[in-house]
Amino acid sequence: MAFEGLAERLQSTIKKITGKGKVSEQDVKEMTREIRLALLEADVNFKVVKDLIKRIKERAVGQEVMESLTPGQQVIKVVKEELTELMGGEQSKIAVSDRPPTVIMMVGLQGAGKTTTTGKLANLLRKKHNRSPLLVACDVYRPAAIKQLETLGGQLDMPVFSMGTEAKPVDIAKKAIEKAKEEHRDYVLIDTAGRLHVDTELMGELDEIKAAVKPDEIFLVVDAMTGQDAVNVAESFNDQLDVTGVVLTKLDGDTRGGAALSIRAVTGKAIKFAGMGEKLDQLEPFHPERMASRILGMGDVLTLIEKAQASVDEKQAKALEEKMRNASFTFDDFLEQMGQVKQMGPLDDLLAMIPGANKMKGLKNVQIDDKQLVHVEAIIKSMTKKERQDPSIMNASRKKRIAKGSGTSVSQVNRLLKQFDEMKKMMKQMTNMQKGKKGKGFKL
Ligand code: GDP
Repeated sequence: MAFEGLAERLQSTIKKITGKGKVSEQDVKEMTREIRLALLEADVNFKVVKDLIKRIKERAVGQEVMESLTPGQQVIKVVKEELTELMGGEQSKIAVSDRPPTVIMMVGLQGAGKTTTTGKLANLLRKKHNRSPLLVACDVYRPAAIKQLETLGGQLDMPVFSMGTEAKPVDIAKKAIEKAKEEHRDYVLIDTAGRLHVDTELMGELDEIKAAVKPDEIFLVVDAMTGQDAVNVAESFNDQLDVTGVVLTKLDGDTRGGAALSIRAVTGKAIKFAGMGEKLDQLEPFHPERMASRILGMGDVLTLIEKAQASVDEKQAKALEEKMRNASFTFDDFLEQMGQVKQMGPLDDLLAMIPGANKMKGLKNVQIDDKQLVHVEAIIKSMTKKERQDPSIMNASRKKRIAKGSGTSVSQVNRLLKQFDEMKKMMKQMTNMQKGKKGKGFKL
């Protein structure tokens, strides 16, 4: 997987700080030092790293973190937000022209994956957005390139416009747009020529096409595997052509990730799509936030934390923690906590945000039934105040009454009582374990 080394290093770094009840400036210093090294090792641009670390440091020792109930987690939130911002923040969309066809010019070095990406993009536009694109072969220097696009068009059952190797690329592009208008096609994807290196002749040609067809988008295709070279290439193309977005290919490979993390900061242009394989359906919109999440190995736990923060009152949480500590947790507390969990949304959705949950064998086919919670709630509500405080008074006739009152069965009541009992035992054990460790906070 891409980013493997970086992900591993960052994850082991943040693990050290996540559970901390207190975060000192020294902790932040150590963490940012490790993050800096990890990013440099992943081939992220030096200046980009420096700026990023500065921002993380400033925010991590600031009020929002230090005064929160969970400083460790807040620090991670800052790291994730900064990584997301680095890659472009909000995911950007593809242009749609008011006067169709929308023209997209694909540019990039030879071998970056330009022709393949042109096919993938056409596929995506048709499949997801119901568009009908025309593919245009403007690489007149390599007959094989025209053939390659025609083959892709054949696979996709999509028309490819070409005029052989004799015509001028700018003329081919202009004619293609006329044809697309005639045939009411709404997108024109122009596959341009590539070279092994950036050269002025090529740039001149691309500039000429740009001036003639006034594209709505110019997508620069770069190979993520080439690291800092990809960033340099992106800078040159952007200086010359003012591209509108970047497509990063081969992110399925063993890339260190430097390109993905530097391109936006260096060129100011967002990565719009990522190539995740050679097949025509392996092009994905690039979501900076999800990518940051993935790099930090956190699934979408931050959404989970945010949801929890939104539904849990900090004072209540502290009181609850205290009760757990001295094992005076009752069915009333249980009910209250259930209410808070319910506010966070359906359990299935919550489970999906837990990192690794999809990989756990046992959890894969589990359907979590929110109705069960309703039963639990009904059972507790059918108990008397005394029973909720002290379940040990429960006898056969009380259980029967509760089952009847809640529309459940005695065995369901028994199951809940048993679960509650086990939960209390577990809390006790954990509290004892915590006591063994010197003065650390209790983690819920
Ligand atoms: P062009 O010269 O820029 O047009 O590059 P091509 O489209 O011919 O692609 C060069 C090679 O990279 C081909 O073998 C493609 O199959 C491969 N390729 C393109 N995109 C991806 C990708 O996202 N992942 C992987 N693994 N290979 C890709």
